[in-house]
Amino acid sequence: MHYKVFLIKYAEIGIKGKNRYLFEDMLLHQIKNILKDVEGEFAVYKTQGRVFVEAKSDYDYDELMDALSRVFGITQIAPVLVSEEKDFEKLAELSEEYLRYEYPGDKHTFKVNCRRADKGFPMNSQEVNAALGEKLLERFPEYTVDVHNPEIMLSVEIRERIFIYAKTYKGPGGMPVGTGGKAMLLLSGGIDSPVAGYMIAKRGVKIDAVYFHAPPYTSERAKQKVIDLAKIVSRYTGPIYLHIINFTDIQLYIYEKCPHDELTIIMRRYMMRIAEKLAKDNDCLGLITGESIGQVASQTMNSLAATNEVCELPVYRPLIAFDKQEIIEISNRIGTFETSILPYEDCCTIFVAKHPVTKPNIGVIRKHEHNLDERIEELVKTALDTDEVIVVR
Ligand code: ATP
Ligand code: MG
Repeated sequence: MHYKVFLIKYAEIGIKGKNRYLFEDMLLHQIKNILKDVEGEFAVYKTQGRVFVEAKSDYDYDELMDALSRVFGITQIAPVLVSEEKDFEKLAELSEEYLRYEYPGDKHTFKVNCRRADKGFPMNSQEVNAALGEKLLERFPEYTVDVHNPEIMLSVEIRERIFIYAKTYKGPGGMPVGTGGKAMLLLSGGIDSPVAGYMIAKRGVKIDAVYFHAPPYTSERAKQKVIDLAKIVSRYTGPIYLHIINFTDIQLYIYEKCPHDELTIIMRRYMMRIAEKLAKDNDCLGLITGESIGQVASQTMNSLAATNEVCELPVYRPLIAFDKQEIIEISNRIGTFETSILPYEDCCTIFVAKHPVTKPNIGVIRKHEHNLDERIEELVKTALDTDEVIVVR
């Protein structure tokens, strides 16, 4: 059997009134976007509070389902059989066809669940449930009805056409990208930040990203790895504007002027400052990092306080309470893990002290940053001026 129509379900909580249209229109937009990369012609439309994808040509089922499973906002995808004729006999015939295809074998428990949006249909929902149930018991003598916990819940929706389905496949949930503003992701080559970006995008937020590299201390391959990670994340979020900031001179200057056990913190503070500047220049409403309390010295509560205080914009840290193992699970699921663990150094590992401070004193850090007064402004300006932007898709 070759499905032509897919019913797209989304969570409707909290999207009443005007927000509902925004949500639905953005969902349609994002589905259309993702389907550009799927071979075949598709129509994407909504009618009566339902979103549909309809194939207008040959297509690959697995490829289509994989694409739809990456669109935030979708909770479930149901391949449906459609009857253009609104006729009970036709409905019964298609229901049989559906069940024979999707549930091979004879013995199943089932229940019919009809929804009649078209009140012009001559039978009401209860009558359809009863009559179709009976009809199917005739066609499948080994089936039994179970109204409480059926193996097969056969849904029948009577609208401008009749839709039949039982199996649904999980979408990623969340909100369509574009319903929630934009944020700047600090994207390193590690495991955490791609996951952090994915999680915030899942709430409907569009993602820009910034990567700080330090050539020649960090290689072209490390940079390519970050581009590759952005590419994987963009499979869910749509195109990402990735800013590459050359951080070498700033790092060397900090290395020269500041106590080495404070290098990481001071460096992180400059990353945040630069990221915030980029964020503001690009209409982002916040920053995103992959930080998690206690994961490393620069992520103790004290260190987080020290890096946080240089920003005015909110810093979103979706992984803040996650264990590494939990982060790795998501990373595996979204497909970034294998790339993240490639061994190319990131810029922090070159300049890390043997014993970095774990409880930095903000007052002391600020004081030591004054050692940088002479040149830091100019170095930051140059870094921003030489920003290389890559559109990753
Ligand atoms: P990740 O796995 O995301 O690299 P990490 O465990 O290595 O995280 P840190 O190196 O302390 O942690 O970095 C904390 C956060 O700071 C990262 O999650 C990321 O958001 C940001 N960050 C670190 N290094 C860079 C970099 N070179 N470019 C951009 N952002 C960075
Ligand atoms: Mg890192």
